[in-house]
Amino acid sequence: MSNAEPNGALFEQIGLFLHEQKLSPDPAHYAFAFAVLSTPNGVLAEAVERITSNGVRMTRSDIEQLGGTVVDGPPLALPHRAGDKKRAGADTLPDTAVALVIETQQQVDGFAQIVRTIREETYGFGRDLADSAAAITQLAEIDGVAEITSAMIQRIHDSEVRLAAATAETDLLRSKLAEARDTARRDVLTGLPNRRAFEEAFAARDQDAGPYCIALCDVDRFKRVNDVHGHAVGDRVLVAIGQAMADACAPHLVVRHGGEEFAMLLRGVDLVDAAAVLDSARATVAAKRFRNRETDTALGVITVSAGVTAVHADETVDTAFQRADRLLYTAKSNGRDRVCTG
Ligand code: GH3
Ligand code: MG
Ligand code: MG
Repeated sequence: MSNAEPNGALFEQIGLFLHEQKLSPDPAHYAFAFAVLSTPNGVLAEAVERITSNGVRMTRSDIEQLGGTVVDGPPLALPHRAGDKKRAGADTLPDTAVALVIETQQQVDGFAQIVRTIREETYGFGRDLADSAAAITQLAEIDGVAEITSAMIQRIHDSEVRLAAATAETDLLRSKLAEARDTARRDVLTGLPNRRAFEEAFAARDQDAGPYCIALCDVDRFKRVNDVHGHAVGDRVLVAIGQAMADACAPHLVVRHGGEEFAMLLRGVDLVDAAAVLDSARATVAAKRFRNRETDTALGVITVSAGVTAVHADETVDTAFQRADRLLYTAKSNGRDRVCTG
């Protein structure tokens, strides 16, 4: 019975795996989960890790490509347990952000402690100073005065050292908070700013800086890339397209809006010029020849479609976005690999 605990832990992991991958409690799924989880450093576990590392769920074809079988059925529901809520909360933030929050909290605690110590020290010093002043007036001996003075100098020195430590701690805290702020506004996969950064930039736009346009851009038939080449290759394609779009649209803001969609906020350009920027970005992506470097096979041409619209004064980001989304839909219906304006 010495291996009872590891088996129990493995069983729990299998349950969690089925739940997260929305798989039913079917023997075929248990077998696949067992094969993945029983050899955590194995080739299969590594392949699954590559696909799911950004919280992405595996598709049926991902599982089948890895030798598993998918049987339709309602996903495994886990019994509610203490800690579930915490795990769900943590899943919504990237690990780096969670680690930063914890680290920042610890630094805040450390800083508060330093400040408390300084306050106590200062209070003690003030009280001693008052006592000393009273003592000095009564003292005839010069030696006694020198002793009191050197003790006071030492106290001042100690306080200075503590204040310097507090200042260094504050600087570190500020830079960590800036880092956490940046992490919250950046997409983990592509390194581009995210939707939150877009919405903030939209809200903070300077109406005097000329007209603004927004664009919504979606990769065409991207599901096929995942289905044929796997999720890990799909991820790399997304990174490459994101970078190409950001370069082609510079200096305008390009964010990963979610999934295989990118959004742009173009400043100081009218609709005609904005459409030209987007069309040039579209042509750059269409001219790329993507290859799967593991299998050395061509992925063929990958294209994008976009909807571009001018932002009206005082409209909300949602209203402008709905227009861009409709135009994107038109671009898709008209054959993809094109930019529609309106
Ligand atoms: P359309 O031309 O109509 O846009 O076709 P599509 O296949 O691109 O559209 P659909 O919305 O059906 O599929 C989008 C796909 O994008 C499905 C989803 O798995 C994939 N996807 C979304 N986010 C990611 C990601 O972060 N990584 C990978 N590899 N795939 C992703
Ligand atoms: Mg798409
Ligand atoms: Mg899409």
